[in-house]
Amino acid sequence: MTQILNSYACDQWFVPSSGLVDIVSAIDGRVVAQASSTGLAMDAMVRHARDVGGPALRALTFHQRADILRALAGYLGEHKEQLYALAADTGATRRDNLNDIDGGIGTLFAYASRGRRELPSEHFVVEGAPEGLSKGGTFVGAHILTPLHGVGVHINAFNFPCWGLLEKFAPAFLAGVPVITKPATATAYVTEALVRLMVASGVLPAGSLQLICGSVGDLLDHLSGQDVVSFTGSLETSEAVRNHPALSRHAVRFVAERDSLNAAVLGPDAVPGTPEFDLFLKEVVREMTVKAGQKCTAIRRILVPRAVESVVAEALVAQLSAIRIGDPRAEETRMGALVSRAQRKAVLDAATAIAGEGEVLCGSLDAPEALDAAHPGGAFLAPILLRCAAPLTAHHAHATEAFGPVATLMAYDSLEEAVALVAKGEGSLVASVFTYDPQVAAALVFGIAPYHGRLLMVDRDCAKESTGHGSPLPGLVHGGPGRAGGGEEMGGLRGVFHYMQRTALQGSPGRLSQLTGSWIKGAPAPVSPTHPFTRDYDALAIGDTVETGARTISLEDIEHFAHFTGDTFYAHMDEAAAKANPFFPGRVAHGYLILSFAAGLFVDPAPGPLLANYGLDNLRFLKPVSPGDAIRVRLTVKQKQAGRKPEYGEVRWDAEVFNQSDETVARYELLTMSARPVA
Ligand code: NAP
Repeated sequence: MTQILNSYACDQWFVPSSGLVDIVSAIDGRVVAQASSTGLAMDAMVRHARDVGGPALRALTFHQRADILRALAGYLGEHKEQLYALAADTGATRRDNLNDIDGGIGTLFAYASRGRRELPSEHFVVEGAPEGLSKGGTFVGAHILTPLHGVGVHINAFNFPCWGLLEKFAPAFLAGVPVITKPATATAYVTEALVRLMVASGVLPAGSLQLICGSVGDLLDHLSGQDVVSFTGSLETSEAVRNHPALSRHAVRFVAERDSLNAAVLGPDAVPGTPEFDLFLKEVVREMTVKAGQKCTAIRRILVPRAVESVVAEALVAQLSAIRIGDPRAEETRMGALVSRAQRKAVLDAATAIAGEGEVLCGSLDAPEALDAAHPGGAFLAPILLRCAAPLTAHHAHATEAFGPVATLMAYDSLEEAVALVAKGEGSLVASVFTYDPQVAAALVFGIAPYHGRLLMVDRDCAKESTGHGSPLPGLVHGGPGRAGGGEEMGGLRGVFHYMQRTALQGSPGRLSQLTGSWIKGAPAPVSPTHPFTRDYDALAIGDTVETGARTISLEDIEHFAHFTGDTFYAHMDEAAAKANPFFPGRVAHGYLILSFAAGLFVDPAPGPLLANYGLDNLRFLKPVSPGDAIRVRLTVKQKQAGRKPEYGEVRWDAEVFNQSDETVARYELLTMSARPVA
C-alpha cells in the first residue's frame, strides 16, 4: 500500500484523506508516497506555535535550548540509517546523503556548541558594550536581543530533505522561536521520517516543531510582524512568497536562499602541471556530479584563461564521461538520479537554452535512451558540459539555472574580464578561486566579493583539509546577494539573531545593570564587608566591589621587574630615550608590572572558593605610570555565567586601576572561576 504522508500539527499527526498527489521514486518511477495538506487548519497551527511552542521555548535559556539540540543530534545520529534507506528513492547516493543527513545532524551539533559557548545562560542577549549618552554618566544606552513572539515558517527545496529542515530549525530553536516546516513535496517522505524521529526523541518542547506535507495552503495569510519566513527554492517561487500581501502588510521578516549560478575561476598562473590545475578539475567534476548537480552551491560556470580552455575541456570531458551513473544504492555508483523525470525535463530545457549560445562538449540534450532502458521509470542523466562561445554577451549561461549535472565552460582574456563575467551572475552563494599567485588572488577576490556570500580559495596549502566549494559551514555565511536571495543573515549567530528583535534600552546605569544582569560603570558598586573572593559563586551579586589600598611604584620596582622578566625596553630603562618618545614623560612602569601589582593589591591569598583566573578581556593601558605614582584598584562583579560543570561558575570582573590623582591608568575585565556549593 502506498504510504500517505502525515503532517504534524498541534502536536498530533494529521492524516489527509483528500487532494492526495503522487510522489514518485527517482530511480524507477514507482509511487513511493502520497501527500496532501487539504484539511489542515493552518490558522490553528500558527496559533499553536505562538501560544504553546513560543512560551515553552522562551521559558528555557539559550544553554538549555542548546543542550536539547545536542541531545536531538545524538538521537538522530543513532537512527540515521532509516533516513539513508528512504533517501535512495530521491536518487541520492550514500555519498550524497553524507551532505544531507550527516550534514544536517552536524549542523545541530554546531549550533548546540555555539549556543553553549557564545550565548549567555539567559533568555536574552546584550549586544555590544553599553554607550554613555551623557556627560555626567547617569544616562546610558545598550542593545538587547529578545526572541520574537511568533513562528518561523520554513519552506524548503527538494534537494536537501534533511539538512534543509535542520539548518533552519537549529537557529530558530536556539533563539526560542517555534517552527512550522514545509518540505518540497517531491522528497517530503524523507522529511516526514526525520520529523517522526525528532518527535520520537522526546526532547522537543510541545509546539516547538510542526510539519506540513503538501502545499502551504493559506498559511501565509495568518502571519504577522512577529513571524519569520525563511524560503529556499527557485527565484520564481521566492518572488511569489515575498510578494504575498500578508508579508508586505505586516513587514514579516523574509529571507530567501535561491537559484545561484556559482562560478569556479582558474587563475592564469594555475597552468597544467600545477597542483591548482588538478584541484580545479577535481572540484568541477565533483560539484557537477554530487547529488546529480542538484545543489544550490554547485559550480555552474567554469571560467578559465583562454590559453588553457581546450586543455581544460578535454580533461573535463574525459573525467565526466567516466562517471558511473546508476542505482544510488550500488557501491560503485558515483552519480544517482535526478529527483524526477519532470525535473530532468526542466534541466534539459535549461541546458538547451544555454547550448543555444554555444556548444555541447559532452552529454546530450535529449532524454538518455540507454539510461532509460537500463532504469525504466528512472530519472537518470549523464553530465552535460557546455561551452559558451561569447560569454561577455551571452545571457543564458549567466541567468538560466539548469538544476542538474550541467555546467558551462567559458574563457576569459584578463582578470578584469574574469571579474566582469562572474558579476554577470548577479549575485551568487559561492565562488571558488584556484590560484597560488597572491596578486591573482587579490584581484579576483576583491573584484568578486561584493557578489557573493562566500568565497573559497583553493591552493596546494589548504586543499587537503578544504571542505570544498559546495559545503556551507554552520559558522559562516550561507546565502548571497541579489539573485541568490539576500539571505546573508543565515550564517552562524546572525542566523539566530534573525529570530530576535534588537531593542535599544536607555536609562540610568543602575537600571540597565539590573535589567541586563551586567554591571555598567556608574551603577551602584557597594563595597562588600567581606572580600568577594571569599564568597562562593552563588553568594556573589552583580556590583559587589572591593576597593584596595594604594601601592607606590618605585624606580627600583621598575628595574627589578625589568631584569626579572627580561623586558628592558628603553621606555622603562633609559630616561632620555623615554622622554624622546611622544607618549612618555620619562621612564615609566611596564604595563604588565601594573597588572601584576594590581593583582597583588586585590588578591585574597588564603585558599577559598575562587578557583582560577582564566584570562583578561578588553585590556587597555590608558595613562603612563611614573616612578613615585601610587596605584589602587577597584574590582567589581560585572557578569556571572554558569560554568560547564555544576561545581563552578564563571565570573567577569570589571577592574579599574587608578593613580594617586584618581585618573584611570588601566582598565580590563578579569575572568575567574568560582566554586559553587555542591548540593
Ligand atoms: P521550488 O519549486 O521553488 O519550491 C521550493 C519550495 O516552495 C517547495 O517547498 C515548494 O513546495 C514551495 N512552494 C511552491 N510554490 C509555492 C507557493 N506558491 N507558496 C509557498 N510555497 C511554495 O524549488 P525546488 O524545485 O524545490 O528546488 C530547486 C530550486 O531551489 C533550485 O532553483 C535551487 O537553486 C534552489 N535551491 C537554493 C538553495 C539555496 O540555499 N540558495 C538551496 C537549495 C535549492 P512544493 O514542492 O509542494 O511545490
